[in-house]
Amino acid sequence: MIPSKLIKNIAYRTGFDLCGITSCHHLAENEHRFREWLASGYHADLNYLERNLDKRFDVAKLVDGAKSVIVCAVNYKSSRSLGYPTTCRSKIASYACNRDYHTSLKEMLKELYITLKKQMPTLQARLFTDSAPLLEKQLAVEAGLGWIGRQSLLVTPEFGTFVLLGELVINDEVDHYDTPFEGSRCGDCHRCVDACPNSAILPTKNIDARRCISRLTIEKLSDESENSSLTANRGNASKTGLHGWIFGCDECQSCCPHNRTTPYASNPHFAQPFDPAELTAEEWLTMSEEEFALRFGHTPLVRRGLQRIQHNIQLDRD
Ligand code: SF4
Ligand code: SF4
Repeated sequence: MIPSKLIKNIAYRTGFDLCGITSCHHLAENEHRFREWLASGYHADLNYLERNLDKRFDVAKLVDGAKSVIVCAVNYKSSRSLGYPTTCRSKIASYACNRDYHTSLKEMLKELYITLKKQMPTLQARLFTDSAPLLEKQLAVEAGLGWIGRQSLLVTPEFGTFVLLGELVINDEVDHYDTPFEGSRCGDCHRCVDACPNSAILPTKNIDARRCISRLTIEKLSDESENSSLTANRGNASKTGLHGWIFGCDECQSCCPHNRTTPYASNPHFAQPFDPAELTAEEWLTMSEEEFALRFGHTPLVRRGLQRIQHNIQLDRD
């Protein structure tokens, strides 16, 4: 059995801002709600979400011998997280203005695991960061880190919504599990719902992926289905479009009152982002692949590449 204090001390020393620990258990209520969401078709053509449903809601089925999940979060808030000038047509979600978080979080989780294993040689673990059918946000709630806001994101009291999650699933029990976060602190607030330019936030705290700019600008789609997603709604052009976003969208976060007074990122991997407002849409359109690789090769923007960004800019102009 591992002391929870030991895990948390190492996690904070490694650079994580938050750490909570939960036992592996079946998340039955979430499975029920997720199946209803899938049945409604709001996941659009994100068909991978239909796979591995039994594993998605029960970590023990995903990882043999899993007993506990260490949920870690890192704050990535920058001044751009809070919004752009209204005229800006080259907006990028603030998480994507840093070194790719998959790389940074995996390095940090690996360091956490290696340090723990030195003291617990029989420890086995698997690392996750946005990489498997793991219900990351709900596990964070189970580990006491925060609640799920109306826009379906994790909201933490200390750092608001601008946190990235990584998990270590381990084959040992912990001497003290955190108490799940009770309830929600959204109260009567509906700012994220009102701020969404495409009315993609559903009353059930789910997102209509067919209208969400994050999906429309990032998820891998055939050009045909992507264009049809946008053009099918062109009849209501003021409601559905990219609204100046060329990779991701922060609108339902920058408006959240829980982000207003939270500190900016201090972890060096997330503390010096580039500012997308310094580049115009025209500069993106004339950028060469070489320049893109040189300036942004370390960021999540390479997930879809320069051509996709340029394509998004054209769609935004149509
Ligand atoms: S990311 Fe943007 S489009 Fe998607 S739900 Fe949030 S505000 Fe709406
Ligand atoms: S904007 Fe308001 S409703 Fe949305 S997550 Fe934040 S507090 Fe909750």
